[in-house]
Amino acid sequence: MKSLAVFPSSREVRLIDTPEPVVAGPTEVKLRILEAGVCGTDREITSFQYGTPPANCPHLVIGHEALGEVTDVGSGVTGLAPGDLAVPMVRRPCPHDRCAPCRRGRPDFCITGDFTERGIKGAHGYMTEFIVDDQRYMVKVPKELREVAVLLEPLTVAEKAAEQVRALAARLPGELKDDPSSLSAVVLGAGPIGLLGAMKLVNGGFHTWVYSRDSADSPNVKIASAIGARFVSSAEHSPVELAQLVGNISLVYEATGAAKVSFEVLSVLGVNGVFIFTGVPGVLAPIEIDAERIMRNLVLNNQVICGTVNAGRAAFEEGVQDLASFVKRFPAAVSALITARVVLDDARDAVLSRGGIKSVIAVA
Ligand SMILES: [Zn+2]
Ligand SMILES: [Zn+2]
Repeated sequence: MKSLAVFPSSREVRLIDTPEPVVAGPTEVKLRILEAGVCGTDREITSFQYGTPPANCPHLVIGHEALGEVTDVGSGVTGLAPGDLAVPMVRRPCPHDRCAPCRRGRPDFCITGDFTERGIKGAHGYMTEFIVDDQRYMVKVPKELREVAVLLEPLTVAEKAAEQVRALAARLPGELKDDPSSLSAVVLGAGPIGLLGAMKLVNGGFHTWVYSRDSADSPNVKIASAIGARFVSSAEHSPVELAQLVGNISLVYEATGAAKVSFEVLSVLGVNGVFIFTGVPGVLAPIEIDAERIMRNLVLNNQVICGTVNAGRAAFEEGVQDLASFVKRFPAAVSALITARVVLDDARDAVLSRGGIKSVIAVA
């Protein structure tokens, strides 16, 4: 079968022929990949900044965002049958007994760093025709979500963030815990992670603002507007002006990977505010930040900064519910996130090129 692979040592990216995997254990599930999403992580891997092949393998099959159809199951599989749709999770636990998060099914909080991630670190990914994995890493998706379920994995960034916000809001007596309808949230960035986060926030009742450098007539900003979020251009308005427009900023969902603008917005976070970082910046030269102001605000305003990576099973399951809800509430906006669908033969070009919001490899 065809797979898109990177060869870090020879710096090549190409389609290769790999053996089709088979169900070998009683709890394994085989998926025919229907679609695989392309994201910034894939672009980093194919530009050799990131990505680790499995041990003793010269190449890594990339892709970590996928939707598949079950074609075969082991004798002990429950809850999934041939014909069902499923989305495979990304991270797999490390082998160490001392890692309580991995031993308790939360490798997204792994403490050893020896986890693997399919398509990213130490395990082949999903830009291929078939995969096999244990049922515990497969999340069933209703057939009605066939056209958009490839967005589930990027949505789980927002879902895990929401899980963190709920835990952090539990300390507060007020609205962030009980009723966000009087609160304002700011999304930094209008890429797929930002826009899916904005959908989650709008759906959760927040007054939602999107702050990005996109132009007001870009497709990204049109989607933000279509779902009822308000757009503020970071090219035209400073973070201080953003805060004047928004009022008390209770929540920031960072989805840019850009440190400078993120810390500038952190310096205008509101009373009892929570700032969630999801982006991974490149390691560039140090930047200047207003550390005194940020530290003063953190203390005097009871603020929390929280980073979050990857997602557990609950985030995937909540994401399935949310995708269904988004499709009901703003169907055109959800579909508009996918700006290109290309066949597997053209996957290399789709990964190496830029442009559009989300490109998807339509494998089957
Ligand atoms: Zn991704
Ligand atoms: Zn671990």
